Amino acid sequence: MGDAAGLVDPFTGEGIRFAIKSGRLAAQAILDGHPESYTTRVNQSIGKNLRMGNLMRKMFYGLQGTWFELALRNPAVSRALVDMFADQIGYGRVLLTIATTFPRSMFTKKVALGEFMNGRFASGANSSILMKEIYRGKH
Ligand SMILES: Cc1cc2nc3c(=O)[nH]c(=O)nc-3n(C[C@H](O)[C@H](O)[C@H](O)COP(=O)(O)OP(=O)(O)OC[C@H]3O[C@@H](n4cnc5c(N)ncnc54)[C@H](O)[C@@H]3O)c2cc1C
Repeated sequence: MGDAAGLVDPFTGEGIRFAIKSGRLAAQAILDGHPESYTTRVNQSIGKNLRMGNLMRKMFYGLQGTWFELALRNPAVSRALVDMFADQIGYGRVLLTIATTFPRSMFTKKVALGEFMNGRFASGANSSILMKEIYRGKH
């Protein structure tokens, strides 16, 4: 149902989530007496994710180093990706998290590296404590 239908996420390489989802959609289409509606249901439920995943793939794999610094080092984005893998949110929310937490992420990174105000603001052990405090319980 998943791989055979070409539903592997082009960005993350995840296939299990979509294999399960499409299997459920197929079962529901049969139970509803409309097995021919399976393709439409898959398009409506998973199609958007595939298109967004394709966009993410093109953006990320073309500029891996930049995106790693901009997004993947950001704990809020890591958290959003975990939520996405748990099927709680989609790519839209992940991109929104990247955009809205970017300034905070850059600021805390500078603090952690001791770059802010020539390291007078915080550095070393203090900065990692500060980062943990800033990101405690934040999404
Ligand atoms: C190394 C590796 C690591 C992966 N890691 C992840 C991961 O971390 N997270 C993730 O989400 N996805 C991961 N994937 C992808 C994920 O495993 C697949 O996307 C997912 O298993 C697809 O499920 P499926 O039911 O579509 O196909 P499959 O799991 O391949 O199931 C198809 C089944 O049909 C059987 N079959 C085939 N032909 C016939 C036939 N003629 N008659 C009867 N039975 C037949 C096969 O034997 C198989 O058991 C990984 C894949 C690989 C190869």
